[in-house]
Amino acid sequence: MLRCNKRTKYIINSLLVAVFKGSQAEMTGEKPIVARSVAAMRQEVARWRQAGQTVGVVPTMGALHDGHLALVRAAKAECDKVIATIFVNPTQFGANEDLDAYPKGEAQDLEKLAGLQTDLAFLPDADAMYPAGFATSVRVSGLTEIMCGAGRPVHFGGVATVVSKLFNQSRADRAYFGEKDYQQFLVVTRMAQDLDIPITVVPVPTVREADGLAMSSRNVYLSAAQRELAPALYRILNQVAEKAVEGAACAAAAGWGVAELEKAGFERVEYLEIRETTNLDLIDTADRPARVFAAVHLGQTRLIDNVPLPARAV
Ligand code: AMP
Repeated sequence: MLRCNKRTKYIINSLLVAVFKGSQAEMTGEKPIVARSVAAMRQEVARWRQAGQTVGVVPTMGALHDGHLALVRAAKAECDKVIATIFVNPTQFGANEDLDAYPKGEAQDLEKLAGLQTDLAFLPDADAMYPAGFATSVRVSGLTEIMCGAGRPVHFGGVATVVSKLFNQSRADRAYFGEKDYQQFLVVTRMAQDLDIPITVVPVPTVREADGLAMSSRNVYLSAAQRELAPALYRILNQVAEKAVEGAACAAAAGWGVAELEKAGFERVEYLEIRETTNLDLIDTADRPARVFAAVHLGQTRLIDNVPLPARAV
């Protein structure tokens, strides 16, 4: 049997208690402070910063799922205090998009955030974010005119504007974004750099359902039949990535992928492209880090996903 002196026993006991408390905290955490105004959030953040604590921010539109919670967990692991923001930002929706139908569930969202010991939830309304007379917008050129930006021309302007506000309002040190919206991650990184906002934008890998479908608040729109078909997107993206890495021309691999998506039953393939990882340039062959990106439509629902090209086998 392991022989321990008193001090070693004490340390082991303390560790066990800490681990137990940690797992309990995930289940029964305290409710986060809820701030609905910029001033209320700033007051809390000022106290934290005065105490020398680092702050992480996780911008979301709510209807939280495990993908969002992975961002909160990443922030908790790296920052002393974590803010989750929930705001369905009207300026990033086009006229015919799902702004009014966007899923909402404030009470459940706050429960989930409490379960992760999130320190503060920022839930502004549209007037708090865009008071009368609001007249500024942020445009990131280049990165925003392709892929999702081509199909949703107002989208990234709305995202860049609201995220620049959230960065300034929260004065966070680090911000967490999902790789599921990889183009968005690059756009907000560029925006923060160009506007000299002192924040590090951290990417978090995509969280998927067991069958590969990327988690998304919009998945609730899918009918049972559509839900069954949806994971084919991830499967085909991976097959396209394999083909490119095995030496196929990227355009040919992408063309094959579009045909496969249509065969699988997706009603419209908005785009399927292989692009470089940092600047989103189209590439001819898989000779540098790149990802396969796609947006497809199933009924009224638009799904996006992307995967990295696997490292070439040597
Ligand atoms: P949304 O609420 O859809 O605007 O997403 C808020 C943040 O969560 C964004 O940074 C998304 O990229 C991220 N996110 C959404 N779904 C996932 C997912 N399945 N895995 C990882 N991050 C995600």
